[in-house]
Amino acid sequence: MKALVYQGPGKMALEDRPTPEIAAPTDAIVRILKTTICGTDLHILKGDVPTCAPGRILGHEGVGVVETVGPAVTAFHPGDHVIVSCISSCGKCDYCRRGMYSHCVNGGWILGNTVDGTQAEFVRTPFADTSLYHVPAGADEEALVMLSDILPTGFECGVLNGKVQPGATVAIVGSGPIGLAALLTAQFYSPAEIIMIDFDDNRLQIAARFGATTTINATDGKAVETVMAMTGGRGVDTAIEAVGVPASFLTCQDIVAPGGVIANIGVHGVKADLHLERLWDRNITITTRLVDTVTTPMLLKTVQSHKVDPQRLITHRFKLADILDAYDTFGRAAATNALKVVIEA
Ligand SMILES: [Zn+2]
Ligand SMILES: [Zn+2]
Repeated sequence: MKALVYQGPGKMALEDRPTPEIAAPTDAIVRILKTTICGTDLHILKGDVPTCAPGRILGHEGVGVVETVGPAVTAFHPGDHVIVSCISSCGKCDYCRRGMYSHCVNGGWILGNTVDGTQAEFVRTPFADTSLYHVPAGADEEALVMLSDILPTGFECGVLNGKVQPGATVAIVGSGPIGLAALLTAQFYSPAEIIMIDFDDNRLQIAARFGATTTINATDGKAVETVMAMTGGRGVDTAIEAVGVPASFLTCQDIVAPGGVIANIGVHGVKADLHLERLWDRNITITTRLVDTVTTPMLLKTVQSHKVDPQRLITHRFKLADILDAYDTFGRAAATNALKVVIEA
């Protein structure tokens, strides 16, 4: 089969690989229909993710058809259409029993990291019963690719951890795919204001179309001043960090109101300062999280009932044979206006 293989920092190639086989009784082999590229894949390519060794097939998102299942798999059968979750969950360890699947001692984020991933014609999915989700009949499978990772990540790490409330003021720092996923799902809770902050006018225009009440281009260095002026000097109830660099975390610290929450989503590669000398008396909460994908079944219902339409995040489509072009397009998002690219296997 064809597969996109990480070959070390800055290097990848589309290779011919053997089709995966059942290795544990709880495995399933899934024929991939559609997959996508995540910002995390770009981090791996930069060499930022030491757990991912050269030779690994990348990708942790996708929709496909079950080809074969191991003898212990009971909830899925050959021919079933499924969403592959970015998090593999054994369902039995202490963390899984607490709904913290991201820290599953037998799984967690392993696909396209420590085991071969979904940017291929087939993938072996560990713990299939507790890591795959049935695609409802008639669903838009392309839209459901967004349920593997990006939509639950924006919702769990940004909106739920950020305690977004009806009537609240929310700021989302970073209007990339993850920030936009937080923007889409924050609207479940009817906040009064959602302020979107980014450096890219195209992404801010998209944010306005997706429901942001105010967009701020931070290029002039006055984003904090603008937010404070808009909120009568109070700041925002929820500040969602959706970039993963020190400057955006600092912006969140500068705009959070007393009693507010800073919900970090971004993957940070370097240390970021925490200004406790200013924040120690402000009753704020700072949260961090790796997506658990515990909300995937709920989000699936909201997609089915058109309360949220993650299909809007998809800007480009490629065939698996052209996945290197897909990486190029996704990697140069400022020039190509790419959000999510869908790859058909
Ligand atoms: Zn991801
Ligand atoms: Zn577990």
